[in-house]
Amino acid sequence: MSAHQGDAASSRLDRWLDTLGLTSLNDDKPRVGVSACLMGRLVRYNGEAKRHGTVADVLPRWLHCIEYCPEVAIGLPVPRPPVDIIATDDAGQQIRNRDGLVADITDALHTYADDLCGHDTHSRKASQLDGMILKARSPSCGLGNTPLLDEAGQQIGVTDGGFAGRLKTRWPTMPMVHEEQLARAVDVEAFVLSVCVYRQQRRWGNNGANDAWNREMRERIMALPLTTLRTRLLLQLEQ
Ligand code: SF4
Repeated sequence: MSAHQGDAASSRLDRWLDTLGLTSLNDDKPRVGVSACLMGRLVRYNGEAKRHGTVADVLPRWLHCIEYCPEVAIGLPVPRPPVDIIATDDAGQQIRNRDGLVADITDALHTYADDLCGHDTHSRKASQLDGMILKARSPSCGLGNTPLLDEAGQQIGVTDGGFAGRLKTRWPTMPMVHEEQLARAVDVEAFVLSVCVYRQQRRWGNNGANDAWNREMRERIMALPLTTLRTRLLLQLEQ
């Protein structure tokens, strides 16, 4: 999204947030986890970043972005040998370096995701996030588009990265996207609105007040002008 598109999306998104009654104060923005390389951190296997302008420059206007690099968090160095997702004979998957330089890190990534989700009841990070923005096609962070390889290195399908897949299992209703799903202004707007709806649902919990809020929110969503946006937000509301 260009700077001009970003400005256009800004004013329209601000109006829609206002319509939904979801405008956040500066010190109370929804908290969104972000793959650290998308924010420009030099944490990739090759010591580089994959800075994404919309994620790093545009979204922080509405969202409090918290950076995570699961591969660094589980103890891998920068730089490091790249890992792949490799199908095993028993229909399972391993995340490892095909030359044996990095052993299978699948369990470590799952444990890290569990900790982030508060699966460990002693975690200080329990359920504090309202959304995730993850790096496409990464063996750790990819969301449904990471290559699945056979032992010879041939691609035989696509799958989730180890960290992202576990997050989806543990946190199935939380809005999650990869950066390629934020290419158009309307995609950015829809994600921010979904995150804000999710945050409010999380705050209300399942009680009578939540039912009343759901009814009112449904009416407000129906006042938005775009059909696809309305559909997406109504789905989020039903989660
Ligand atoms: S894709 Fe995920 S694991 Fe890889 S460098 Fe980025 S944040 Fe770290």
